[in-house]
Amino acid sequence: MSIARSLLLGASRSRWLAERFMRQPFARRAVRRFMPGEELSDALRAAGTLQGDGIGSLVTRLGESLTGESQADAVRDHYLAAFDEIHARGLPTRVSVKPTQLGLDLSIDACIGHLDALAAKAVQTGNELWIDMEDSSYVDRTLDIYRRLKARYAPIGLAIQAYLRRTPADIESLLPMHPIIRLVKGAYAEPPHVAFPAKRDVDLAFVAIAERLLEGASRAELTPIFGTHDMSIVRHVNARADALKLARTSYEIHMLYGIRATEQKQLVADGRTVKCLISYGAQWFPWYMRRLAERPANVGFVVRSMFMK
Ligand SMILES: Cc1cc2nc3c(=O)[nH]c(=O)nc-3n(C[C@H](O)[C@H](O)[C@H](O)COP(=O)(O)OP(=O)(O)OC[C@H]3O[C@@H](n4cnc5c(N)ncnc54)[C@H](O)[C@@H]3O)c2cc1C
Repeated sequence: MSIARSLLLGASRSRWLAERFMRQPFARRAVRRFMPGEELSDALRAAGTLQGDGIGSLVTRLGESLTGESQADAVRDHYLAAFDEIHARGLPTRVSVKPTQLGLDLSIDACIGHLDALAAKAVQTGNELWIDMEDSSYVDRTLDIYRRLKARYAPIGLAIQAYLRRTPADIESLLPMHPIIRLVKGAYAEPPHVAFPAKRDVDLAFVAIAERLLEGASRAELTPIFGTHDMSIVRHVNARADALKLARTSYEIHMLYGIRATEQKQLVADGRTVKCLISYGAQWFPWYMRRLAERPANVGFVVRSMFMK
């Protein structure tokens, strides 16, 4: 792992730094590159613009570790209202959540209850519920939650991280459920016995797992989603899907708001299904540090924002 990446991932866990950084006007200007605003309405406005370009969307409210169960109740209520708002606006927008945001650290039973309520709401409003994958200490619990929910509700997707050594086995174990899997490289700092430390190995793992998922899709075992901005991997996925004669609607490419915007439009013009994950919310510091860690050159935007009005 590069020094810049480990420093930025270390910074993402510092409350001290978060409090100071988030107060700076230049920091708020810099974060706008990846986030249209702090409110749900800001995210939905951006979703409407993307819809005009033929790009679907997902929204997620930032905020991770909670200190009390009432906060998890409030997050659940926020997302329940978000499903209604998306339905009322007729947007092609899905909802993506983090289990710790719904109190996984406080009570797994309460967290499952909240996710169950959100999954039921997703079904009722013709939507989908997406579950993000957090650091490796949460993987067993998140898989357990996914299995339980997927047994009750069809439209539920799960993010799976290619950098984890365990991931191929986890995918095989999920196949009997006809899962909806969003494959991502993985965004957290993990020890080498848990995750591949070298980027090249992560990329190779992503490609190998992507091929497995596409073959599974050709046998209707699962629905694969590829969450990456790595255009050589995206091209490889599309070529492999074409070789397997997969319908273009049977898999999707997901990217983050503000990254590879031109390529997202080109993929749509090429007939591919593309969705963009839009984040919003006041608790953006750890998430923003992870985005900088993915591409330390992005720190240049922060520096430039210091000199902009
Ligand atoms: C829709 C979606 C959902 C995700 N959900 C999760 C999740 O649940 N759990 C999790 O651990 N991770 C998640 N991630 C993050 C993911 O794990 C990676 O950290 C992130 O996508 C960067 O990896 P990459 O595949 O784009 O490849 P990389 O090799 O990191 O990047 C490829 C190229 O894309 C561009 N790029 C990548 N990141 C940035 C950036 N921040 N700014 C500017 N350019 C960039 C650069 O040109 C880079 O060279 C998600 C990502 C996406 C797109």
